[in-house]
Amino acid sequence: MRIDLTSLLDGRKSVLEAEYSYMPSDEGVLLPDEITLREPIQVRVTVTDKHGYMTLVASATALYDTVCARCLEPISTSATFSVSRLIETGADRHTQDHEHDEDYEDELLTLDGHFVEIDDDITEAFVLELPMYHLCREDCPGLCPKCGKKLSEGDCGCSAKKEIDPRLAILQKLLENP
Ligand SMILES: [Zn+2]
Ligand SMILES: [Zn+2]
Repeated sequence: MRIDLTSLLDGRKSVLEAEYSYMPSDEGVLLPDEITLREPIQVRVTVTDKHGYMTLVASATALYDTVCARCLEPISTSATFSVSRLIETGADRHTQDHEHDEDYEDELLTLDGHFVEIDDDITEAFVLELPMYHLCREDCPGLCPKCGKKLSEGDCGCSAKKEIDPRLAILQKLLENP
């Protein structure tokens, strides 16, 4: 969503707070295939005027569905994360001040008229926040590589059956029938 900073730019306010939610568009940052948002990403933004520049902090929560990387069991979970940016307002640049503002690591957001747009930055932060893979539980035993049964639901019996390498089976036959 475009955030209107007019009240900060004309000095009526020094802090602006906004809450909104959005669904990432197909043209923006893409979510991994196995991630499905259950509802729009919730965002709470605070923009603070610091005379010459502004700081923007957005906290976001995403509720999403995915699957266990080992057993493919559906998982519903959530992520909470935040994005911090500097907005250069142009008038008089206090570059030296920025260097001391270590929280913001010089990630600049550009003003578009009186507006800023951070949805793509938030989607990107969400993707970075995601773990490499999700597990339904830390010790998920996964699926049986032979029959595909979920091992958390009990032993399928495959491991009990001794399987002999077909090449060794020939050898065994020779040994059995000298
Ligand atoms: Zn699992
Ligand atoms: Zn099995």
